[in-house]
Amino acid sequence: ALAPPRHETRATCAYCGVGCGVMIEHDGTRITAVRGDPAHPANFGQLCTKGASLHLSAGLDTRLLYPEYRATRTEPRRRIRWDAAIDAAARRFAGIIAAHGPDAVAFYISGQLLTEDYYVFNKAMKGLIGSNNIDTNSRLCMSSAVAAYKATLGADAPPCCYEDFDHADTILIAGANPSYAHPVAFRRIEEAKARRPQMRLIVVDPRRTDTAAAADLHLAVLPGTDIRLFEAMLHVLLREGMLDEAWIAAHTEGFEALRAHVAELSPAVAAEVCGVGADDIVTAARWWGQAPAALSLWCQGLNQSIHGTDNGTALIALSLATGKIGRPGCGPFSLTGQPNAMGGREVGGLANLLPAHRDLANPAHRAEVARLWGIDRVPDTPGLSAVELFEAVRAGKVKAVWIACTNPAQSLPEQARVREALAACEFVVLQEAFRSTETAPFADLMLPATTWGEKDGTVTNSERRISRVRPALPAPGEARADWRIARDFARALGPRIGKPQAARLFAYERAEEVFAEHAATTAGRDLDITGLSYALLDAAGPQQWPFPAGARVEEDAARVRLYADGCFPTANGRARFVVPGRALTAEKIDARYPLHLTTGRLRDQWHGMSRSGKVARLYGHVDEARIELHADDLAVRGLHDGELVRVASRRGELVLRAVVSPDMRKGQAFVAMHWGRKVLGSAGVNLLLGADLDPLSKQPELKHAAIRIDKA
Ligand code: SF4
Repeated sequence: ALAPPRHETRATCAYCGVGCGVMIEHDGTRITAVRGDPAHPANFGQLCTKGASLHLSAGLDTRLLYPEYRATRTEPRRRIRWDAAIDAAARRFAGIIAAHGPDAVAFYISGQLLTEDYYVFNKAMKGLIGSNNIDTNSRLCMSSAVAAYKATLGADAPPCCYEDFDHADTILIAGANPSYAHPVAFRRIEEAKARRPQMRLIVVDPRRTDTAAAADLHLAVLPGTDIRLFEAMLHVLLREGMLDEAWIAAHTEGFEALRAHVAELSPAVAAEVCGVGADDIVTAARWWGQAPAALSLWCQGLNQSIHGTDNGTALIALSLATGKIGRPGCGPFSLTGQPNAMGGREVGGLANLLPAHRDLANPAHRAEVARLWGIDRVPDTPGLSAVELFEAVRAGKVKAVWIACTNPAQSLPEQARVREALAACEFVVLQEAFRSTETAPFADLMLPATTWGEKDGTVTNSERRISRVRPALPAPGEARADWRIARDFARALGPRIGKPQAARLFAYERAEEVFAEHAATTAGRDLDITGLSYALLDAAGPQQWPFPAGARVEEDAARVRLYADGCFPTANGRARFVVPGRALTAEKIDARYPLHLTTGRLRDQWHGMSRSGKVARLYGHVDEARIELHADDLAVRGLHDGELVRVASRRGELVLRAVVSPDMRKGQAFVAMHWGRKVLGSAGVNLLLGADLDPLSKQPELKHAAIRIDKA
């Protein structure tokens, strides 16, 4: 028999915010292989181990293929038709809204969703239901970076691009392990360093990660002390005359307060707090100050902190104080965790945002969005952020929650409380591609969604580049696109809550129509993409924003990096310095809990492993959950390498294999974030972690807890 014909479809990797382009090979019924897209500017054909095995995760064995519903928690879910499923969802949401008001319901969505999915969910909550209770797992990921950008540069716009790796003379990576979390981007840094060995790489991380091992200088700071380090670097830059005073005077405000603040914060003072050598702090400052081009990168190590916003503003201050922004190889560059956390921010799909980087708290922005959507008003009551939302569920204030493409029963901190909340919630809808996530047992209604290889839309990566995501295969079973499910729900709900205009508001028939409406909302905003369309993206490939109407693809060089003119999107056009607060970590170690626990990624797994966990070869790197420790911390407790230990925090305990690691400082422990209930037999590592929030970004401190270990 003849082999079925092979086809290739251009799409984007489903995993991290590098946003690599992929070519999906398929025969029309099965995905058979994947390779890097040589034409995609994020990866030029390269893929990491996760991306290169995407096709192995595409089987249907773990997929949710049909809607399932149970009217009460005492019965099992049963298969149900789509129209009945949507009707049940609309009826139960409408009943709760009628009895308790619109703030008694909520959506909790995901940075894994496409921009079009995000847009429809956001409009359904803020433009139809009349609440701002929509938040996303991007709150756990990038919200501190968002707040830091807005506080200093005036807009949530990462100013840099991957090409800057090729131009930087010094790269400072703080609170990030791109060797594992953003491998293709890190490979580009390694290649740049191989070509220009004089390039300096500084890594700030409590652990000696693979990224730190590649550095010229590793500053193994104690958890929570990053701000003191950046302040001491600024102190040295100031003391040794390495500031760009003319640029500061011309383009910034607020420096005098920061200058006074850091005057006494010498490297010797910071060395005590941070647990690193004062000489190393001086070296880091000099490498930054003397480099013609210096670039900083950061990710969750700074963001997931009770002072994540201040971490970001303190790091950004190094770029502003030396005028190293808006030029090749310069600037502060947040690495996005998820594939489309950026797109979600662009459409305003968080509790405090509105479309096109507008702010919910701004009455003029609310009025603009109401006009764009053709509704009377956008509600002004602040929505609940991720952790707050599940606390409100637990308290009985939010009675129905719709969860899409995320797994809060594993990924949120204070796991015991989150599970109590889901168990007590009156109505839980779970819109998912996979049927057996940790959240699934709590769902009253499960709605099958399409996933990678089946979806049509767009995503935005860390460098503001919008890429098309295209379907290689038709949806399996009865799975539907996420935006379409949200649309159908909105259309069904509208008449039940006295809003028959829902049919007009959600008239989309194709993802492309959603994108066009989103693009129209960006007119005149910092991220103006009114010049972009599916037709242009299909013809010219992925494009960075801004891309206003009339922009030409060949003018790409002009938007590769932002703020080249030193003009910032603040009220007076000046960037702002911020004096940071004094907090360290929310939880302190003590005699009962004497070890610092930090968390992070493995090289070959992704989030809660619902996709990467299906691929046998991705267990080759690390094959089981474990806690990594310094040898002395085991020896002093009479424990041995490889032994099972009981790991306890103030919130719960896990049993894990203890592994001696030369990468750990004494007093520090590390557990990867991925392992969940099915793997550990009890609960994921987030059982141990608290839900203390950054007061500005509302991002929880998922990077640190005080723990103890004992013989299991
Ligand atoms: Fe996918 Fe990120 Fe790997 Fe690229 S670096 S292939 S986007 S996981």
